[in-house]
Amino acid sequence: MTTTPQPASCFTATDKPTWELYSTCIHCGLCLSACPTYRVLGLEADSPRGRIYQVLLADEGRLPVSDTFVTHIDRCLGCLACQTACPSGVQYGHIVERARAQIEQQYRRPWLARRVREFVYGALLMDYQKLARWARRLRSYQRSGVARFLRASGSLKLLGLDEMEALAPRVNQDFTFAEFGTVFPAEGERRGRVALLAGCVGSVAFDDLNQATIRVLQKNGLDVILPRGQGCCGALHAHAGRRDDARTLARRNVRAFLEMECDAIVTSSAGCGSAMKDYVELLAGGDPADAEAARAFVAKVRDVTEFLAEIGLRPPSHALAGKVTYQDPCHLAHAQKVRSAPRELLRAAGAELVEMQHPDYCCGSAGVYNVTQPELATAILAAKMDDVAATGVPVLVTANTGCMLQLRAGVAQRGLSMEVKHVIEVLDAAY
Ligand code: SF4
Ligand code: SF4
Repeated sequence: MTTTPQPASCFTATDKPTWELYSTCIHCGLCLSACPTYRVLGLEADSPRGRIYQVLLADEGRLPVSDTFVTHIDRCLGCLACQTACPSGVQYGHIVERARAQIEQQYRRPWLARRVREFVYGALLMDYQKLARWARRLRSYQRSGVARFLRASGSLKLLGLDEMEALAPRVNQDFTFAEFGTVFPAEGERRGRVALLAGCVGSVAFDDLNQATIRVLQKNGLDVILPRGQGCCGALHAHAGRRDDARTLARRNVRAFLEMECDAIVTSSAGCGSAMKDYVELLAGGDPADAEAARAFVAKVRDVTEFLAEIGLRPPSHALAGKVTYQDPCHLAHAQKVRSAPRELLRAAGAELVEMQHPDYCCGSAGVYNVTQPELATAILAAKMDDVAATGVPVLVTANTGCMLQLRAGVAQRGLSMEVKHVIEVLDAAY
C-alpha cells in the first residue's frame, strides 16, 4: 500500500504555533461578532476562527507564509476579545504572536517597513538612552515653528503624515528615567512597598501619569521604588513577532525587579501589565533558571488599579461629584480579566459612573496598529466614539496610555467637549 507524502509545515520550529494551541478551536464561530476586524470587514479570513484556520493550513504545509497570510494576521489587533468570547478556552493571543514570529522569520517586508521596524523595535525600544535622545529631538520638533508650519501649510496632509502626527504622543519636559533608583516614601501608616514599571513611551510621554501613580500609591501608604535597570516591557516586540527581543527585555526586567524587596510590581499601563504577566510563557523552554525567575516575577505583577482595589483605597480628601464613563482597555479586560477594580476606584473617588454600550470593545489603538493599519483603526475608533458620545458625560476614563492617545484623537475628530483621563489621574485629583 502506498501512502501520500504529507507536505512539510510552512513553519520553522522556533516559536511555532503548536497543535496544542490551535487544535482547541472547535470552529463554533462564537468569537466572530466579538472581533473588531470581522465587524468592519465581514470576512471569515479576518475573524479569529479564520485566522486560526490559516495558521493550521500553514502548519500543515497547505498555505505559504505569503502576502495573503501576512495581510490577515497583520490586521489582527491582538485585542483578545475573541479569548473572552471563546467557550473552548483557545489561547488566541499565543497563536497570533507565534504566527507573527513565523512571519518575522520567513517573510520579507518592503524595504522601508524593515528599516523602520529595525530602528523602532531593534534599537529605540531596546535602549533607554537612545530613546531619550530621540524623544528630545521629537520634543524640539513638536515645540518648534516647523511643526506648526507643516501642519498649517497642509504639507503633512500632502505627505500622508497628518494622522500619524496627530496620534504621536506629546513628549514631556522631564523623563521618568531621571528618577530611576529613587524610593518615594509612603504617607501615613505604611502598608507596604511596591516597584513601578515606568514604561518606554510612559517615561517620555506620560511622565505626568507616572508621577500621579507614585503620588496615589504614596497616599495609600506605600513606599514606591523605581528600579534602576528596568526597560521596556517588550509588549510591542512580542506583538510584532520579535520574540527574541521581547525575551531580552523580559529577562532584563525580571532581574531588575527581583533585586528589589517589594510586595508587588505595578504598572499603570494595561498593555505593559499584560505583557509582564505573560513572561512565563515567553521564557518557557529556555534556561530553567529564567523560567523560575519569571514565575516569581509574574506572581507579583499587578495593574495599579487591581492592586489598589485589592488593598482597599484610602478615601480621597475631595470626593468628585461628576459623571464619568469608563472604557475597558482590551489588555486589562480581556487579557488580565480586570474589569471591576477600575470601576470600584472611580466610585470610591466619588465619581458617578455612566456605562457606555460595549465598554470592552477595542478603540483601535492596539500598540502601533493605528499607524500600521490606519483605515481599519479609524473605522474601529468611529464605532467606539458613537458609544462614547451617546453617554453625554464630560469625562472619559480608561487605564492604558495607548487607549488615551487614541480616544483623545477620537474626541478631537468628533469635536466633543470631553476630557480623556486615566483612572489614576482621577484619583490623583481627588487626593
Ligand atoms: S485578537 Fe481581536 S482582532 Fe484579533 S482575532 Fe481576536 S478579536 Fe479579532
Ligand atoms: S469561539 Fe473559540 S472555539 Fe469557537 S471558533 Fe472562535 S476560537 Fe474557535
